Amino acid sequence: MAKGRDGMKPYRTARVICTYKCNKQCFGCVNSVHDEMHVQPIGLTDLARFDEIIITGGEPLLFLDQLIDLTEKLSGARTILYTSVPSYSKLFAVFHLFAGVTITLHDNEDAIRFNRHFQKYFGNDNGFPLPQFFVRIYDSVTAHVELFPTAQYKSCKWVDPKDCKLQPNEELFRLRNLWI
Ligand code: SF4
Repeated sequence: MAKGRDGMKPYRTARVICTYKCNKQCFGCVNSVHDEMHVQPIGLTDLARFDEIIITGGEPLLFLDQLIDLTEKLSGARTILYTSVPSYSKLFAVFHLFAGVTITLHDNEDAIRFNRHFQKYFGNDNGFPLPQFFVRIYDSVTAHVELFPTAQYKSCKWVDPKDCKLQPNEELFRLRNLWI
């Protein structure tokens, strides 16, 4: 098992819902069960004890100022952004702040936008600073998806939200002061 910041304890990851607001309305959204009443709230002091923090929602990129502020306050941890990218210009404005970015393509509309924007920014080796980045493609995507060599791709299936599991080293929280 990976070691945490002190090299002794297990590596701990906090998956943090920062907002429930989202530009999409996916039928199988896990937040139908991970709602505000059923997820433990957490503040910055407690978050700072984790080795890795996954910033998720809802859609974090709908709150660019709060997102930048949070990453600055968590600068000691490895931060990962989960997004479905409502705006690629917003994503590219904050890409460099994260150790990793995971883009999820939920439907063909997401896939078509991903192809268009990543070709523009990464199709010609323009030296854009890259974190590790992953692309999750749901089985509801039937459109072609460009495979960029700088990304790692993973297929995933919609399942009953009650059956969505965290990784063994992950704990789920929501921000005490949610972005609304
Ligand atoms: S994009 Fe994610 S958070 Fe938004 S509705 Fe879809 S599954 Fe839920």
